[in-house]
Formats: sequence, C-alpha cells, structure tokens
Amino acid sequence: MARRKRPDAPKKNDKAAPRSAYGEKELRSSGQSPRASQESSSLDNWKPKTLLGSKVKNREIFHIDEILDRGQKVLEPEIIDSLLSLEQDLLMVGQSKGKFGGGARRVFRQTQKKTMEGNKPKFATVVVVGDKNGHVGLGFGKAKETVPAREKAIRKAKLNLFKIRRGCGSWQCNCGKPHSIPFTVTGKCGSIEIKFIPAPKGKGLCCQKEIAKVLELAGIKDVWVKTRGQTRNLLNFVYACEDALHQLMQVKLKPEDINRLGVIEGSIEQPALPDEAGMAVEGIVSPAGDAEVKKE
Ligand SMILES: [Zn+2]
Repeated sequence: MARRKRPDAPKKNDKAAPRSAYGEKELRSSGQSPRASQESSSLDNWKPKTLLGSKVKNREIFHIDEILDRGQKVLEPEIIDSLLSLEQDLLMVGQSKGKFGGGARRVFRQTQKKTMEGNKPKFATVVVVGDKNGHVGLGFGKAKETVPAREKAIRKAKLNLFKIRRGCGSWQCNCGKPHSIPFTVTGKCGSIEIKFIPAPKGKGLCCQKEIAKVLELAGIKDVWVKTRGQTRNLLNFVYACEDALHQLMQVKLKPEDINRLGVIEGSIEQPALPDEAGMAVEGIVSPAGDAEVKKE
C-alpha cells in the first residue's frame, strides 16, 4: 500500500479537489482517498466489454441491487467499483515456515511442488471486500507470486459480491435497528458448522478474528457465533461463514416480521454515486428501506 500511495499523492491533489462532489464519503478516511482517486481515474478509462457493463457506464443502472436482484452475472469488476465504494481486507489463511516456532498466521498460504528443476512455490490468499452496508464478497486467488495472487483474489471477491439481510432479532434488545442479523443462520463447509445468533446492541462480534473481518465489512456489528469442527482450517471456516451469510437472503419472511425485526436487504441508501443519490432513494429502495431512511 505504501508504495502505491506515493505516486498517487500529487494526483489526488490535482484531481480530487475539483471533483469535490464526491464529498465526505471518500474524504472521510485518509487511507482510502488515494486509492479511491486512482480507481475513479481508471474507471474513466474503462471500456465495458459486456452489455451490463455498458449500461452501468452510461448510468442506466445506478444501484447494485438492480443487478443482484435479477441474479445477473457480473463479469467485470469495474461494474462493482463504479456502483459501490468498497473496502478490502486480506484474511490470514496461511502460516509462516521455519524452525524457530513457525506457524504464525500469514496472509499468503505458501505451497510447493517438487520438480526436477527444484521447488516451485505458489501463493494463495483470500480477500474480503465490502461496503460495511449490507454487501460483501469473498475471493480466493492463487499464483506463482504474491501480488498477482492478491489481484486475482480481489477481482474474484468483487465478482462474488452478494447482499445480506440485517436487522435486530435479539429478544434482549428489540430495537428494530439493523445492527445485527434478524434471525439465526447456519453454514457448513467440510467438517465445520457455523451458527450466527443475533446479539443485543453493544455486544460486538463474538467470534474468531478472520470471521469478524468478514462480518464487519458486511455491516454486522453485534453477533454471537457458535462453531463445530476443525475451525483451524481457515479456508473451510471462511467458506462456512460465507454459506451462512448467503442463508440470510434465502429465508422467507412474513411482512409483519420485516417491520418488527427492522429487516434491511442490502444497503439503505445509494452508496457510491452522490449525483444520483436522490434519484436512487426515491426510485429503488424497497418499502422497508424507505422506512429506515425516514428514521435516520
Ligand atoms: Zn437491537
């Protein structure tokens, strides 16, 4: 990251200043803004290859939920970039080698193949992207070097983006705000079973660190987690978490429960493009979402 920041710093001053319409959202965190300006410049040069991409580029589609609700396949990561302002994180799926007590968690999982020429190492990693507002995606990338492995994982995470339901299903809280999940869900991968249980406000994410990264980027603030199986296998653990989060959208809900639990699907308001934010709120957001907008 540090290497990427330096060449961008002057660019940010030149370009981001006139484009202040982006406002607080991009300028809020200083660490994000150089990357954001780089992304916006690369988005200007983006030539869409798919019909969906050209629709997004021409502003015919300005909300991510339009694509996700129809179940359309996203084949270009720029589509997600132009619709959402995403944050990303690398999960510690590997471990360090060495005789002095190796085994500490690392971002890259390093594996080797024995060949006639010698050992051929490969690097694999898992990236989670999310807008902290109901959209999250996970991607696995593997390559001979660390940087392309990360790039692959980021790309796949953006293409795998999905939305979740949030709400308050805790009987101790009953506030109707979307700080937790509306009901208990379970996920499975390999021997691992994971169970997310709604928790009252202020409880925090009571789970393993890497799972907490995923939940935080999804926008869940309070949850209890119960697991079973070989959770030391982080890849399976993370996939089980993804499975459980998918489950949040697959449960059918009664209309009265939607209001009682304060259920929100995906994001509340238009996150990325402030020019059309007003239009998006009027046009697209579901009745449950509309109620939330008024409350806040
Ligand atoms: Zn609550």
